[in-house]
Amino acid sequence: MHRVKSLPSYLRDRYRDWKTTSFPEHRDWFQKLAEEGQSPRAMVIACCDSRVAINSVFGQRTGELFVHRNIANLVPPYTPDGNHHGTGAAVEFAVRHLRVKHILVMGHSNCGGVQGCIAMCEGNAPHFEERDSLIGRWLDVLRPAFIAVADVADPALRQIALEKEGIHVSLENLLGYPFVQDAVDDGSLTLHGLWADIAAMDLETFDGTLRRFTPA
Ligand SMILES: [Zn+2]
Repeated sequence: MHRVKSLPSYLRDRYRDWKTTSFPEHRDWFQKLAEEGQSPRAMVIACCDSRVAINSVFGQRTGELFVHRNIANLVPPYTPDGNHHGTGAAVEFAVRHLRVKHILVMGHSNCGGVQGCIAMCEGNAPHFEERDSLIGRWLDVLRPAFIAVADVADPALRQIALEKEGIHVSLENLLGYPFVQDAVDDGSLTLHGLWADIAAMDLETFDGTLRRFTPA
């Protein structure tokens, strides 16, 4: 493991600054979290994109949101096949053990993952088509959603349409997890779709009745 190094200096400096200036104000809160464990009311499934500022947007303190991030905030279909499923494991833990009340699937504008899926589906990204492309095979989850937006002529609007359709597909896939479906059916869990405009930080929420996004 000699190739694994200690913290880069800029992160070490940021950490030491935070520990001496900000942390002391919240020491009791962290102590409480350590003693009582976590009991977040909501799970957020968001993109890995560093611009999606989840805790800032919701004004949440440490310990209040259970967050899972992956490329393009996707939930794959329920597939209990004995393989590794990071997203499914996080959902199972949140629902069955933490008993969160809400799951938010949060997409965003200018999503590189969604852009990659469009390129792949339009035949412009042969490297993603390779069987051993981890990104390509992950973005296969979004492939069915592309069919719904393929007719949108303007590329920028097509991108936004797929970002939103992907959220819809992930919510549908979530309902395929039996423990999610049970919790939704008995009223202990609600599902939500959100899309964030990165520049304006405007949030739109999915209206399941109207089947479209409206300002939050
Ligand atoms: Zn993204």
